[in-house]
Amino acid sequence: MKHINVALFVVHRGCPHTCSFCNQRSITGFDRELTPADVDRAVETALASLDSETATGGEIAFFGGSFTMTERGYMISLLEAAYKYVSAGLFKGIRISTRPDGITAEICSILKKYGVTAIELGAQSLDDRVLALNERGHTEKQIREACRMISEYGFELGLQMMTGLYGSGDEDSIETAEKIISLHPATVRIYPTVVLKGTKLHELMLSGEFTPKGIEETVGLCARLIPMFEQAGIKIIRVGLHSGGGVDGEAAGGAYHPALRELCEGRIYLNAALREFRRLPAGEYILTVGRGCRSKMTGQKRANLRALAAEGFTCEVEENASVKKYEVKVRLKNDT
Ligand code: SF4
Repeated sequence: MKHINVALFVVHRGCPHTCSFCNQRSITGFDRELTPADVDRAVETALASLDSETATGGEIAFFGGSFTMTERGYMISLLEAAYKYVSAGLFKGIRISTRPDGITAEICSILKKYGVTAIELGAQSLDDRVLALNERGHTEKQIREACRMISEYGFELGLQMMTGLYGSGDEDSIETAEKIISLHPATVRIYPTVVLKGTKLHELMLSGEFTPKGIEETVGLCARLIPMFEQAGIKIIRVGLHSGGGVDGEAAGGAYHPALRELCEGRIYLNAALREFRRLPAGEYILTVGRGCRSKMTGQKRANLRALAAEGFTCEVEENASVKKYEVKVRLKNDT
């Protein structure tokens, strides 16, 4: 049975922080405050489109801002609007995203009372130097403390990390991923840095002090991060900012691509094939990948097959259900 989720974006107008990468309006695509009536409208629309034979209500999610740091009465009014659908059994639960320093015992009690089931923390980095350089206004210790509280209260924990922040190299991101894995979240989102107009990063970029990582570099890094999380049994629910919603016109640099995850997964397959070919002579080969993985092996616009051909390996791709995800089996074509 399919679950239908409802995603709502909360703009935190009064946010006292000035994170280097943040331009709330661009990220969410909204510059108007979400109201309880908006919640009703979105949920009712989802319910109306729901065929109860094949789909049920999943989660009502509040994304975008630092939800638990918005004005208390406002936050509760949004939760109340959503909770009536959860308590009526029409949706499974409520997901929210917030800052690590927006989690306290009192907040956890309120969230529990209103049917919140999953909390995602915008950790972004677990390196105090990178956090400070990007003016996050919280520390690694606060991330760890928030994770502990979230787990103690029985919420599902999600962590969001960014790559390519100001002052952060690939090895910093790998280290952050290792620390995230040690915190045992159920889910992660990987957001490579996109430089939005009007942000501090944009100023730093224009002054030449910051050179954002482009798509190619980011794909190479994420092709290392994705297997780390998957091997640890952590579900990756997003790689890259969502397309639309205002980001397209506001991105001035960095790694914005509407199909970033596909590119990264394609790179994982290319790397796996190249590893197999390390000790093989040039020639014509068949690459066998798992069911549904042919397009990832082939790459966008056949980029992977072209890259392999440039190395002397002319390849065709076939699928076989017995081959595991990200595994590539290689055999000579004339052996078939
Ligand atoms: S990322 Fe969140 S905490 Fe940082 S400035 Fe934007 S809304 Fe505020």
